[in-house]
Amino acid sequence: MTRPAEDADGVLVWNGLVVAAARAGRSAARPGAATVVSMEWPGDGDGRIDDRERRVIKNEALFRQVNERIEEVSELVPEGDLLEFLCECGEESCLERIELTRAEYEAVRGVPTHFAITPGHAHEDFERVVDRRERYDVIEKQAESAPVARRTDPRT
Ligand SMILES: [Zn+2]
Repeated sequence: MTRPAEDADGVLVWNGLVVAAARAGRSAARPGAATVVSMEWPGDGDGRIDDRERRVIKNEALFRQVNERIEEVSELVPEGDLLEFLCECGEESCLERIELTRAEYEAVRGVPTHFAITPGHAHEDFERVVDRRERYDVIEKQAESAPVARRTDPRT
């Protein structure tokens, strides 16, 4: 998987896509603002998570960090307007976008174990859909992986 990276102009590029194409423009990006360009697997400790789930969890955490950056560079977008985020389903092949208002995004981010995804992208065997909206679903990580979701939360 191509990891998100910041180019010389401070634009975040991920899998060849410019994901920080904020309508607010480049000036919204704060100089020196932290951008996570790689993330090491923090370890689950108990070995109960298989490789597939492990990969998904890691990607979800990574996409969440990209989305945090998207929100950050969109700070000049008027409240109530839709912001475009990456689906946080954690599948490497998923390039879907979801649209949330800042308030909707903040509501999802308010719970460390919650992620916003394209409707239908939940891994029903280890994720639970806790909220179904018109434009996105909110999933909750199950007990085994919840500690990892919390540990990788950029806000804690
Ligand atoms: Zn997806």
